[in-house]
Parts: sequence; C-alpha cells; structure tokens
Amino acid sequence: MKKREEIQTLADIAEFNPKLDPKYSPNLFRWMKHHLTRGAKFSVYRSTDPDQKGRLWIGFKTGCGVVAVPLPRAMTTRKEALAWSYPGMVRIDGWFSSYKKGGRCFIDPDHTQLFADERWATKGKRRTCLWCGLKQNLREWEEVITVQRTDWVTAPHRKLEETIALGRAKWEMAPSTKKRNMKK
Ligand SMILES: [Zn+2]
Repeated sequence: MKKREEIQTLADIAEFNPKLDPKYSPNLFRWMKHHLTRGAKFSVYRSTDPDQKGRLWIGFKTGCGVVAVPLPRAMTTRKEALAWSYPGMVRIDGWFSSYKKGGRCFIDPDHTQLFADERWATKGKRRTCLWCGLKQNLREWEEVITVQRTDWVTAPHRKLEETIALGRAKWEMAPSTKKRNMKK
C-alpha cells in the first residue's frame, strides 16, 4: 500500500486483518472486503457540515461526490450499505497510516468505547489494553445520595369541641315561701 490514505486492493486490506493483530477491527476488515469494488479507493473523510459535528465517514469519491458510510457503522456491521454522504467531505490524509499503527486505540484513544471482542487483561484492580498496552487502575469511591421524596400526611385537626356560653333560666322557690310552707 503506497498511499496510506487510500485502500484500493485486497492486498491493502490484508494489512488490517485482525488475525495479524487483534487491535484491528474485525468488522471494519469485513466491511472493507465486502465493499471493495474495482477502482474504488476507500478513504476516511471528515464532514465539514456543522450538523455532522466532525463525524468520520469511510467511502470513496465519485464524479458527483462522496459515497460513504459513517465509520462507526462500518465498525458495527459489515453489511452497512454505502450511500451518498453529506456535502463538504474532506479526506483525512494518513488516516490509514495511523490506524495501521494504533488500530482501534487510534480510533478510541480515551479507551471508553465498548467493543465486542476482549480489549482488556484484568488483574485485580489493574487492567492492561491488549491492543496498545495502556494500563488503567480501578478507582473506587463512595457517593452519598440524597433522595427527594413526597408523601401525604394528615394535618393535626382542629378541636371539634367548643365552649359554648348559653344563657339559661330555671324557676326556683324563693326562700321566704319555703319557711312559710314548713310551719304549716
Ligand atoms: Zn489500547
């Protein structure tokens, strides 16, 4: 492969066979093999469309524009079909050279993506990237979480008893009358 930014033949693709080195994506390898057409030169492009947020595509240039698929999709399924891409595609020179060197760790240098095949050799609280040798330590910490809850509570109810002042009247015998009656 003379020009690292282009994949033109099966021999070019063979350099990225995951059997040579597991750092290469098996899906991307199969995708390139599946879509290699005579005369087509695969390259990786970056979209300059602001909506695309710098998304990477893999495909080739035609007289009318770039026919491609988003790179992450080519790395997920080999059957992802080529389609007309967005306008404003800029070829990334040397992308395949970097991929040749770093494999999937070049695509995901932060080591945060999940891949279907095993990437880590883990020993206790330490793990090593099988593809590039990067080492990571497991950090453990505790978090205190405040949970906001709501519930209906009965209010202390108002006393139903009330002191009622009533004006009352009653007939009673007068004391003088009492005496008189007793003498009899
Ligand atoms: Zn790595």
